[in-house]
Amino acid sequence: MDLHGDAEPFTLADVQLPEVLLDAELPALLPALAQLTGDLSLVRAEFRPAINATPLGLEPQGGLSAQCQQRARDAAEQAIRGWVARGRPAAPDLDAVELATLLEFVTGRVEHDYLPLFRHQLGYDDPPDPVGNGAEFTVVVIGAGMSGLAAAHRLRQAGISFRVIERNPEVGGVWWENSYPGCRLDTSNFSYSYSFAQQPMWQYQYSTRDSIVDYFRRTADELSLRDAISFGIEVESAVFDDRTCRWQLRLRAADGTTSTIEADALISAVGQLNKPNYPNIPGRERFAGASWHTGRWNHEVTLAGKRVAVIGTGASSFQVVPEIAPETDRLTLFQRNPPWIMPTPTYHALLKPGLRWLFRHVPGYHRWFRFHQFWVNVEGRRQFALVDPEWTHEVSVSAKNEALRQGLVAHLEQGYADRPDLLADAVPTYPPYGKRMLRDDGTWFETLKRDNVAVVTEPITEIVERGVVTADGAVHEVDVIIYGTGFRASDFLTPLRVVGRDGVDLHQQWQDDARAYLGVTVPNFPNLFLLYGPNTNLVVNGSIVMFSELAVDYVLACLRTLLDSPHRTMECRWDTLEKYYRRVDEASSLMAWGTPKVRSWYQNASGRVTQNWPLSTFEFWTRTRAPEHIDYDFG
Ligand code: NAP
Repeated sequence: MDLHGDAEPFTLADVQLPEVLLDAELPALLPALAQLTGDLSLVRAEFRPAINATPLGLEPQGGLSAQCQQRARDAAEQAIRGWVARGRPAAPDLDAVELATLLEFVTGRVEHDYLPLFRHQLGYDDPPDPVGNGAEFTVVVIGAGMSGLAAAHRLRQAGISFRVIERNPEVGGVWWENSYPGCRLDTSNFSYSYSFAQQPMWQYQYSTRDSIVDYFRRTADELSLRDAISFGIEVESAVFDDRTCRWQLRLRAADGTTSTIEADALISAVGQLNKPNYPNIPGRERFAGASWHTGRWNHEVTLAGKRVAVIGTGASSFQVVPEIAPETDRLTLFQRNPPWIMPTPTYHALLKPGLRWLFRHVPGYHRWFRFHQFWVNVEGRRQFALVDPEWTHEVSVSAKNEALRQGLVAHLEQGYADRPDLLADAVPTYPPYGKRMLRDDGTWFETLKRDNVAVVTEPITEIVERGVVTADGAVHEVDVIIYGTGFRASDFLTPLRVVGRDGVDLHQQWQDDARAYLGVTVPNFPNLFLLYGPNTNLVVNGSIVMFSELAVDYVLACLRTLLDSPHRTMECRWDTLEKYYRRVDEASSLMAWGTPKVRSWYQNASGRVTQNWPLSTFEFWTRTRAPEHIDYDFG
């Protein structure tokens, strides 16, 4: 195993190791060093991190006592010095049992079935075997965002001919489109990165939008994907030709010219969160000032000295408001429901210098750190969102959810201790994890306490020329209105027109209730594969990047099955889809976001949860390894 690839050499004289190690995250450093040196005593029982998640996250340093942490740092220092003294030898090949020992150090005891998933997350998987033995078969991928790039990389590795069509002039999808002030990740960028493109150079744990776009750009460059991407071209329609069994795509370039291309298989990687949801408030068009949506930021208009209204308190507004409030004359925040806030002291913080040094110089450490972040975000958090059917509390959904709720309420009480007026409107009346949990390091509290910021909870009734009118009759006069009102996430694949076998229109078939088997395949639509499709969004367990990677694995396995067969098409069966959705819908009703107490973008107009994956991460992993023949009709 070559771990040296992205590690920079160093000399011991140039570094104060004890100082650097004070910044180390030990639960990840110890297995990294054990792998590098082959010394498994580094993951001995006394250093084993506590695994049980507390309501507000894991204990720092795995809950080790200060003395134990020091012993672990001393052991780590010795290991690094010894490794350098031996001339920085390559890591020994660990056998399966030894690797399992390291993985279990981080995760606690788990079924051995999990180990392939863990290897995948560490980025130690072999590339996919070639698919199709050079058969003439072309795939078109729509979109070069997070999912589309993953598809492009794996298709290339598998030797399948493909082309990516991207309407924007650059890769990155929503991250390229969302340029609002303050935009950054609110999940760890270690989790929000590809297993096949891990990197030690992150500056933050929660990266800014620019560094995420830069990450996607560099991934496209380093994996030589750009030559396969046609930028500035939108796919208007995709129609399956029953006679040729091929997809015919109509394209429109930025200059209005149209063209058509054909494909044997079509992969949609169009994302879920890119169609702005403008609220249906009467009079919106009458407003005389400038207005825009967070996802379409207007960089032409300066906000300095202006009276600004921000509507909505979801993830986007939560990042915009602290950033713009100081420059405005007055900012009025219209809040319908307050968000739950996870205390995150490192939310805006640069990673500690010692930690960054270790990422760059200790081979494999950043991989284990990423793996630890991934694990923290997997099944550990899921238990706090699970509904206990016997639980009767008005707001929470289980004893664990209630413990989390109390911890979060205490955090709000502390944050607004000096402003009971703000606290009164800050405690959500839905269970934690009913909607997306937001992160704060105190910035949000401080922003709402500013003299030039006001929170309005009266419902908006109308927008007039001068501003926003609320139910109490007040007219809030403003110069600018910013809509932080989210996206039409349930309108999967719109406005793309997709016509499948026998002329069936995808949107008519779905009727505002998108369903796809594993989020990927749809009856009546042969050789069509969706990434980040229905019910594959993550709330507590796992990462969207990982799920897109797993969906790509599944698509490749489908193409392998198809191209190894005498058939030209494969199509999900209705009974497969129906059986699958009985399980998904039942599981959704047992998650905090699926209860009748909550209304959010996770649901479609009729209230069914169309966005989220409600089952375990491990189940998605298992089910996406390969298609079952019985689930498909071949033609
Ligand atoms: P959102 O979470 O859907 O929030 C929309 C906000 O607008 C909510 O507060 C909603 O209130 C409010 N709203 C909607 N219609 C309204 C109306 N007619 N009147 C008053 N208020 C109204 O949208 P978002 O903040 O853009 O985030 C969407 C998703 O994008 C997130 O959940 C996340 O998955 C992703 N995102 C991620 C990041 C990140 O990683 N850093 C950043 C931004 C967004 P109610 O709660 O009452 O419905």
